[in-house]
Amino acid sequence: MTETAALAERASQHTEHFDVLIVGAGISGVGAAYHLTKQCPGTSFVVLEAQGSFGGTWLTHRYPGTRSDSDLYTFGYRFKPWTSAPIATRAEILEYMGEVIAENGLDRHIRYRHTISSARWSTSEKLWALEGIRTDTGEKVHFTANFLWMCQGYYRHSEGYTPEWSGMEEFQGRIVHPQNWPEDLDYTGKTVVVIGSGATAATLIPAIAPECGHVTMLQRSPTFFRTGRNAIPLADELRQLGIGEAWIHEIVRKKILHEQSVFTSRSFTEPEAVKQELLAAVRAHLGPDYDLATHFTPRYRPWRQRIAFIPDGDFLEAIRAGKASVVTDEIESFTETGILLRSGSVLEADIIITATGFNLNVLGDIDFDIDDKPLVFSDTVTYRGMMFTGVPNMAWVFGYFRASWTLRADLVADFVCRLLNHMKEKGVRQVTPTLRPEDQDMALLPWIDPENFNPGYVMRGMHLLPRRGDKPEWQHTQDYWTEKDQFPAADLEDGSFVYE
Ligand SMILES: Cc1cc2nc3c(=O)[nH]c(=O)nc-3n(C[C@H](O)[C@H](O)[C@H](O)COP(=O)(O)OP(=O)(O)OC[C@H]3O[C@@H](n4cnc5c(N)ncnc54)[C@H](O)[C@@H]3O)c2cc1C
Repeated sequence: MTETAALAERASQHTEHFDVLIVGAGISGVGAAYHLTKQCPGTSFVVLEAQGSFGGTWLTHRYPGTRSDSDLYTFGYRFKPWTSAPIATRAEILEYMGEVIAENGLDRHIRYRHTISSARWSTSEKLWALEGIRTDTGEKVHFTANFLWMCQGYYRHSEGYTPEWSGMEEFQGRIVHPQNWPEDLDYTGKTVVVIGSGATAATLIPAIAPECGHVTMLQRSPTFFRTGRNAIPLADELRQLGIGEAWIHEIVRKKILHEQSVFTSRSFTEPEAVKQELLAAVRAHLGPDYDLATHFTPRYRPWRQRIAFIPDGDFLEAIRAGKASVVTDEIESFTETGILLRSGSVLEADIIITATGFNLNVLGDIDFDIDDKPLVFSDTVTYRGMMFTGVPNMAWVFGYFRASWTLRADLVADFVCRLLNHMKEKGVRQVTPTLRPEDQDMALLPWIDPENFNPGYVMRGMHLLPRRGDKPEWQHTQDYWTEKDQFPAADLEDGSFVYE
């Protein structure tokens, strides 16, 4: 649609206007709303969410045992103390987010069941025009906003990723993706195969194993896990001493972040030692005779993929108890009664659960246009992993892989609020990240270096992601330790932003 046609259409329909429009009411969107109210008071804003409630990931994922794989002291917001055990269930996370919404009066800003399908920027109007649909009434909805804050997460919520295997249609049992867990799934006494070896498999298996006949985790290759008690002794001790929760939150965050930083840097400087420590912890649960080399020793160095924490070793204990087992092999085909493996063995199954990951979606499956030209996101260069060259008045939240997502959501929120306040002070209506003359010859690289981090969903979607340069302004570092200092210090007048 041309800009004139868009203007004419808007004149004939009800369009609401806000200073800022936030897409998504997951942990990032709710955090963005909180920070806006505190750091940019008086800004009008709305949060549009496709689902019927808040929570995002924690609403979508309902498979048995859904829980965090990182601690809630750092996955929780900087501003709202976490007061329980570090690894939390989905119900606990939803309750925590619900409190943030209620305590800060954010409810009135959130519109549920609003799926946004297109976003068009007009330079002449200096506005985003968004179109969507109300999924409860089927009604089209229209909004305009000066600034778009994309908190839509990184994967398609409607459907998880299931590879195509030959013979799938012949299988007589049920095939289930954890992201679309059927409420009526009865696994009591059943023989279950879980395909995949990531955090989802390691969470789901101990939750269903007691009821199942047997659960087999079928993996192509092993994954690293960390295990330990689901407790932070320092937090418990401080609580016993009557220290306030705000202090405990701050102290425990600092401690966890320090320990994570040491662990991350050791996994680069002494990967073999780290690997042996991780394997020893697994060995302590599975015993000396277990074939750790085949089933728990990855081919990559620690931290090249996310490392899930297994609280109290529950997944490993299910294996030790004989309720679960691991098979490391490849799928040749599905059969009527199970799975034929490359090795020639057969895994019989009543239910096959495909814990095979996500469909990466970069901007919420929204069609973006800039002045009537479709935005090809992969043609842009990232500004510190939160804005994009040539894309005016838009920020994007993508959290950390190796640390809790929310640490970055909080940092990006501070930056966006600072930028909005800066624009207000300058009296400008448009900000566009733009390569400076000195950046023009900069080498452009893929969004992330596969040598650094390479989970399947990122590798499958790399062609959709923006590129990065070789200077701090144009990188997405995945490093909390540099970003926590660089973001607040980033010079908004260093030429990387064109204001109009
Ligand atoms: C099972 C599971 C466990 C995880 N555990 C951890 C963990 O322990 N620690 C960690 O750091 N990370 C974890 N992650 C990663 C996790 O997804 C993020 O940490 C975080 O929850 C993402 O929050 P978000 O708000 O950015 O996005 P999401 O949670 O994905 O929420 C985005 C929201 O935007 C909405 N939306 C998307 N597109 C549109 C549209 N077009 N219109 C309207 N609304 C839209 C979606 O419906 C959704 O509600 C986990 C992921 C999964 C799947």
